[in-house]
Amino acid sequence: MKKLAIIVPCYNEEAVIAASYNRTMSVLSSLPNPSEIIYINDGSNDKTRILLNEIALQDRRVKVIHFSRNFGHQPAVTAGINKCKADIAIIMDADMQDPPELIPDILELQRKEEANVVYCVRKSRGGESFFKRFSAKMFYRFMNSMSEVKFPVDTGDFRLVDRTIMDEFNRLRERGKYIRGLVSWVGFKQVPFYYVREARLAGETKYPLKKMLRFATNALLYFSKKPLRLAMGLGFVAVLVGIVLAVWFTLGKIYGFSNAETGWTSIIFTIIFFGGVQLLTVGVLGQYIGILFDEIKARPEYIIEETRNF
Ligand code: UDP
Ligand code: MG
Repeated sequence: MKKLAIIVPCYNEEAVIAASYNRTMSVLSSLPNPSEIIYINDGSNDKTRILLNEIALQDRRVKVIHFSRNFGHQPAVTAGINKCKADIAIIMDADMQDPPELIPDILELQRKEEANVVYCVRKSRGGESFFKRFSAKMFYRFMNSMSEVKFPVDTGDFRLVDRTIMDEFNRLRERGKYIRGLVSWVGFKQVPFYYVREARLAGETKYPLKKMLRFATNALLYFSKKPLRLAMGLGFVAVLVGIVLAVWFTLGKIYGFSNAETGWTSIIFTIIFFGGVQLLTVGVLGQYIGILFDEIKARPEYIIEETRNF
């Protein structure tokens, strides 16, 4: 029988930990598979830590990883996958937006399809603002149009991955991990599972606008070189406009249809031309050098302070 692990990143989730544990464990207990839950406490500064330790103390099937500080959602999930020894893992949010009651159906689909990945697609999303739903919808479609790899849309990190996928994932050396993208990128047999995303059970979203934007930018930069080409395109357009204006005003001077002051022609040409060149180089270099800078430092993605039940 295949061993199952549920990977749950938690950042300041004191309001939902108990419900998450109870609901998930009652589903797991009904399965024939041996199973466990891996909670990653991503440097929470509320009672999350104490609550997780209490649960781990009375239930050996609950494993806990405490980070030394807040490293972020993606590093937390990465740590869960890195530490997971099970044959199959399902990644879920702590806030019950991804209902644990779906686990048996997801497993069933995986078995039936002999899939390596079952990615859960949101048919609809409950309890989220219009802005969040709209921006998420736009983001997934925009990512697809920009990226060289095609991703399934409306899909978060809620998914099942098997040992093959986890082993391949563990070989990836990049530090800025956009997990849902990387899992698609790895390939093998991936099938969708449609579900209704529920409202957060309690507490607040840990993805305020700023974090959402950083997440989206990172995803884009790590998965696409199109911004480089766009910056270049923009530069070319500016250069072209500069040339047209230069010709226009020069001819205007000669044939007398432009009444620009002497010197104005060359100044405007220079400004637009070099403005274009600058846009081009800054656009090309800036974005990606930032990433190179981060990657070349080769710092670990996360630091574990302590673990329980491993
Ligand atoms: N999370 C985390 N570290 C962070 C932010 C979020 O581990 O820095 C966890 C959080 O506890 C939750 C999951 O990632 O289990 C998704 O976060 P959230 O539900 O707040 O995002 P939303 O569903 O609103 O996009
Ligand atoms: Mg959530």
